[in-house]
Amino acid sequence: MTSTTENRVLVTGGSGLVGKAIETVIKTESVGSRFGKRQGEEWIFVNSKEADLKDLKSTEALFEKYKPTHVIHLAALAFLHDNLAINTNVLQTSHKFQVKKLISCLSTCVFPDKVTYPLDETKIHLGPPHSSNFGYSHAKRMKLRAYKLDFGVNFTSAIPTNVFGPHDNFNLQDAHVIPALIHKCYLAKKNNTPFIVGGSGKPLRQFIYSLDLAKLFIWMLRDYDDVEPLILSVGEDQEVTIKQVADAIVKAIGFQGEYSFDTTRADGQFRKPASNEKLRNLIGDFQFTPFELALKESVDWFVKNYDVARK
Ligand code: NDP
Repeated sequence: MTSTTENRVLVTGGSGLVGKAIETVIKTESVGSRFGKRQGEEWIFVNSKEADLKDLKSTEALFEKYKPTHVIHLAALAFLHDNLAINTNVLQTSHKFQVKKLISCLSTCVFPDKVTYPLDETKIHLGPPHSSNFGYSHAKRMKLRAYKLDFGVNFTSAIPTNVFGPHDNFNLQDAHVIPALIHKCYLAKKNNTPFIVGGSGKPLRQFIYSLDLAKLFIWMLRDYDDVEPLILSVGEDQEVTIKQVADAIVKAIGFQGEYSFDTTRADGQFRKPASNEKLRNLIGDFQFTPFELALKESVDWFVKNYDVARK
């Protein structure tokens, strides 16, 4: 992305976990710095209230209004049909409006169910995804390469591992593991009840702090021009157990009550590490926020914003 011409960056899913993190980085890093806003750049963050991306007319009206030169496409829903519609509309409209560069956001669920670990960018198409998110994964896979191959445009994709941070979804029915445990522990402290974590606590996961991920997206938009997807993650050596996550949450919340693991609950896959070697080779020096610090910041955000947090 050149800094001399005018660049308008449209971020879909701008009200979500990742979108809000990109907005925070753009607003708080100093102008002209590595991840800060550059001269001639305008950043536009949109959510479903501004345009329903399931609807082509609504999507086109959004692009007509902002005329973006660059798009970071984060908006997503859990259902295949909705996701297919959103992705088709955003890619098709980006092409129609001659967007210079687009980054689609995938996730590690696009990888085959039966695969050798660690995951890396070359293994996506080696087999079908896991049956539990077959539709979602296929919709995400569809975003890969098609436009670059069909039309030669600069459309690429990012594959983050598990994300957490401020503005996450803390709803106890459908939240991911970190926001769910933060909310549970918060309630246990408030109500003076035990904090019980489902499963043995032994499985390992790679988590990336949303504000670190935001910086990686900003870097990718400016400096990564390959069609091949890029895994955005901490290194494999940064895997943590669910017990380490729960311990850090207990500490950050200051919970002093009864705390245990319900080993009658299923654990899920033991580990599914992804390699960030390609990223590290390309980005050079990049410091990830230490896990405990990132978790503490996320907990502090939740406690401070309890009334308005998604839950
Ligand atoms: P969130 O669920 O936090 O936010 C989803 C965003 O999509 C919201 O801004 C929402 O707007 C918007 N959206 C949903 N439906 C529509 C629609 N019909 N029209 C327009 N906008 C819509 O998502 P995350 O920030 O967690 O995820 C961002 C991306 O990262 C997604 O593509 C996700 O698959 C991917 N990802 C996420 C991971 C994670 O751990 N969270 C891991 C790996 C990948 P509104 O607020 O108005 O509903």
